[in-house]
Amino acid sequence: MNMRTWPPAPERTCLLSIVLPLFNEEAVLPMLHQRLLAAVADVAGAVEIVYVDDGSSDGSPEILKRLRAGCSMVSVLRFSRNFGKEQAITAGLQIARGAAVIVMDSDLQHPPEMIPAMLQAWRDGADVVNMRRRSRADESWLKRQAARGFYRAINRLSDMPIPEDVGDFRLFSRRAVDALNQLQERNRFMKGLFAWIGYRQVTLDFDCGERAAGYSKWRFRQLWQFAIEGITAFSVAPLKVATKVGLTCALLSFALGLSFFVRALAFGDPVPGFPTLIVVVLMLGGLQMLAIGVLGEYIGRLSLESKRRPLFLIESYEPATAYVPLLQP
Ligand code: UDP
Ligand code: MG
Repeated sequence: MNMRTWPPAPERTCLLSIVLPLFNEEAVLPMLHQRLLAAVADVAGAVEIVYVDDGSSDGSPEILKRLRAGCSMVSVLRFSRNFGKEQAITAGLQIARGAAVIVMDSDLQHPPEMIPAMLQAWRDGADVVNMRRRSRADESWLKRQAARGFYRAINRLSDMPIPEDVGDFRLFSRRAVDALNQLQERNRFMKGLFAWIGYRQVTLDFDCGERAAGYSKWRFRQLWQFAIEGITAFSVAPLKVATKVGLTCALLSFALGLSFFVRALAFGDPVPGFPTLIVVVLMLGGLQMLAIGVLGEYIGRLSLESKRRPLFLIESYEPATAYVPLLQP
């Protein structure tokens, strides 16, 4: 598909779009689809289900083809390779036609049964319905602590609060989706972007299930990468740290120099040199490397942004043939 004509012009609209990024989820897809259909059966209006296949290498594409053949409200978008979940969500939001759009994981950790409650919150006037997981008990202690530390760090560093334990399970009103679609940056820290747009946000609690089948695709290194992305995208505070550390060092070394001077003049002490020297040299060297590393994180991202490559490439896009108007109001 030609990326210059992307996103395609809307052909029709519907009440609700459900956007599902997926990567190698053959084990859960049939079950997911059943539960989605059951959950939207009572929705008064047309619904579309947008599966965004993030370059799966398993049987997912065939299953999606089958699901689409058997259900007119299924759209299937396929990337040319694995670009990552954030990109898949971005693409899904660009083609979603609903007056309300729900984003959720495809592994059934986000229960489709919450959809009616989310729609109700939207009808009551919310632009963004954030779904907060009640407990993270299923995750390892280490991952929980890491998540805690991450939220604490990012909320201290950026001026915009990012709600804790709210993932990508959310509902957006049309104007919220339009706002998100205007954000062009490559660094897609979705949690931050979702908070950045503002509007009327409400939060509902839900019980995060276990993954229905398959396995989580996150690795620790990716989570670290994700944390750095988040911090660099929404704060320049790390850049300012170098200034403060440098100033402190300068003041301390001035005081130290003064004390050497006084000791040498007043008491005629020979100043013992080597230990102080080596410690100061190593410490300053380390701090400088750290500051350069922080600069590097930002400059690397600037260089990526400035290339202005497309965020993803499309292998194929097959829109829904008809949004089944289930029980018109
Ligand atoms: N996912 C994706 N692209 C990726 C990795 C994951 O679209 O490169 C999808 C995945 O299929 C699932 C969702 O993102 O629907 C969440 O992924 P996962 O369950 O592996 O992460 P976790 O729930 O452990 O955070
Ligand atoms: Mg999961």
